[in-house]
Amino acid sequence: MILFRSFSEVQEALKKSTFSCADITKNYLKRISNQSHLNAFIEVYADEALAQAKIVDHKIKNGTPGKLAGMVIGIKDNLCYKNHKVSAASKILDGFDSLFTATSIQRLLNEDAIIIGRVNCDEFGMGSANENTIYGPVKNPLDNLRVAGGSSGGSAAAVAAGLCLAAIGSDTGGSIRQPASFCGVVGIKPTYSRVSRYGLIAYASSFDQIGPLANNVEDAALILEVISGKDDFDSTVSTKKVEQYSKASIKDKPIKIAYIQDCLDRKGLDPEVKKFMEEKIIELKKKGHVVEPIPFPQLDLLVPVYYVLTTAEASSNLARFDGVHYGYRSKIVETLENTYINSRTEGFGEEVKRRIMLGTFVLSSGYHDAYFTKAQKIRRVIKNNTIEVFKKYDFIISPTAPHTAFPIGKKHKDPTAMYLEDVFTVQANLTGNPAISLPLGNHSNGLPIGFQIMADNFKEGELLAFSKYLFN
Ligand code: GLN
Repeated sequence: MILFRSFSEVQEALKKSTFSCADITKNYLKRISNQSHLNAFIEVYADEALAQAKIVDHKIKNGTPGKLAGMVIGIKDNLCYKNHKVSAASKILDGFDSLFTATSIQRLLNEDAIIIGRVNCDEFGMGSANENTIYGPVKNPLDNLRVAGGSSGGSAAAVAAGLCLAAIGSDTGGSIRQPASFCGVVGIKPTYSRVSRYGLIAYASSFDQIGPLANNVEDAALILEVISGKDDFDSTVSTKKVEQYSKASIKDKPIKIAYIQDCLDRKGLDPEVKKFMEEKIIELKKKGHVVEPIPFPQLDLLVPVYYVLTTAEASSNLARFDGVHYGYRSKIVETLENTYINSRTEGFGEEVKRRIMLGTFVLSSGYHDAYFTKAQKIRRVIKNNTIEVFKKYDFIISPTAPHTAFPIGKKHKDPTAMYLEDVFTVQANLTGNPAISLPLGNHSNGLPIGFQIMADNFKEGELLAFSKYLFN
């Protein structure tokens, strides 16, 4: 079975007519069914994808293909696609069909991408291991006993296993980058407001962003270029012009790179991940770049502040799932109140309920100022400090995660251990900055180590150019 690892390979094959889009799609369908044990796809749009592939083949023949003609893409199960099921991996959305299409998905379709199916994820994007899902955990393609990361674990596993060329994920606190790191692919979270969130099932609205996972930087850049930009359906989206990310190139001067020393000295950081970072720093210095340690006094506050604010936002966003409007309704519904209570009790998973309760608590009268307001203030300080860093430096580098993919079940019963997984990724969501994970390291356990680069707001072009320089 053929395995394409880049869109340029696909385009080459289409140009030479070695394969048609229909052949390529059939090949992916076969790969998905051969690797169904990974549990990456929860629904495959076989007939529809083939029909779309044939339309794209026609367009290619007529000389009118879109930018993504022949690119086969999987979409995370929290993105709406009209007349298709979407569940956010939750029982509460059981049987729900999307009434409209997310802007990001529509833009992929407008450029002739082929959407092959929806992929597994953590329920409402809450998790770091893709174990909080009604569909069962996603297995890491590189070691089936280990997690794929979360919450976009299905997206990362599908790309790594060659079940689609690229996938769309969402990132509220690391959910694109951490699974990318665990599965050895590229994943980018754009600047907050770069990509429309219209049609993304909200987890924490002031953090959520949609982004691509791919085998290489070029493919991720091209997808980002297509899905970014202003949108009348999302008032938070930036109207800033979208650069041609796929053509971005690195500037010809030493790059100024910062790293937070305490990140490398953290207890719990795998010694091999630390060594990998130290070697990278030396390598970058040897290439003539400026690489310097910086202090970041709020490092230990990143995870707590993230969890206070995101659970608060989630408790409000998830109030709409009440057993009346959408999806699942309990069988025990004598009164309005017990319709709500029973439907929500039975419909939501453990972790989601934990977060709704935590979020409701931090917003409740008497505790609001002590938790929510305080966390908002610290978020501002973190943002201001990050702005200061980017006045002096082009990028901040760190590992994407403290270690490589861990065994399935290892942290599932320990929420605190799971939350600490996010220590390096949440800063970019608290501040809104763009950040990417590149699979640059190899651990002696045979698994990839992700290298994270964070850039100044709306500097996706520079970030991707630097990534290309380091990776491809
Ligand atoms: N692991 C983080 C959480 O559980 C991030 C999730 C995400 O980015 N959607 O909240």
